[in-house]
Amino acid sequence: MIRFISIVIILFIFLFGCSHPRENRDVLFQTSTINALLEGVYDGDITFKMLREHGDFGIGTFNELDGEMIGLEGKFYQIKADGKIYPVDDFMKTPFAVVTFFEPDKTVLLDKPMDCGKMEKYVDNLLPTRNIFYAIKIEGNFVFVKTRSVPKQNKPYPRLVEVVKSQPIFEFSNVKGTIVGFWLPDYMKGINVPGYHFHFITDDRKAGGHLLDCQVKDVRIEIDYTPELYMVLPEHDEFYRSDLSKERQKELENIEK
Ligand code: ZN
Repeated sequence: MIRFISIVIILFIFLFGCSHPRENRDVLFQTSTINALLEGVYDGDITFKMLREHGDFGIGTFNELDGEMIGLEGKFYQIKADGKIYPVDDFMKTPFAVVTFFEPDKTVLLDKPMDCGKMEKYVDNLLPTRNIFYAIKIEGNFVFVKTRSVPKQNKPYPRLVEVVKSQPIFEFSNVKGTIVGFWLPDYMKGINVPGYHFHFITDDRKAGGHLLDCQVKDVRIEIDYTPELYMVLPEHDEFYRSDLSKERQKELENIEK
């Protein structure tokens, strides 16, 4: 009997003790840094098989900057510059991605039509502090959505600010879909995008992109409070040599908006 109890205790310690960091689902996982992406570091070492181990929800891009990435309910999608959505296989890689396991801590229904800017201000008031990370999912009916994607690049890679000068833009009206993204604190400058960074996908999973503008009709806003960060940096020459010491906030705002 004592032997049985000690086995149970050891098993308990193993399950809830040692494996705790892996089991914690309130971790923001990110690959590389936003400033590295701005500098043209468009190749990473992290596969989507690896990324999946850190989250079922998130946004990012693909090696060679081949489109916008959106992850929702455990599925990852590639929105290429042609506006179409392609399946993402385990062996594809990402130079920049942010994911978490999405489990909302707060859910609010919003049935007043408003534009993206107003909606963001509304969400601002739902956040209990501006000092932790939030994963945000906004699902429902949209009067209008404007997105963009980025075209696949060839080496030598141009800087991101050059690429977005010719970004394809997509507009949708009266569409059902989901916004997937994050709100991050100001102190994340250089590492990630401070404030909101959203991608969008339609309910039929046929279109989407990096969100530029929208007008919501009636949506459900879900917020996942995320107090931990796990960052993995690329281990190759392009990343090692890129100058990440410069302040790029203005440039980032032009690219994101
Ligand atoms: Zn984006």
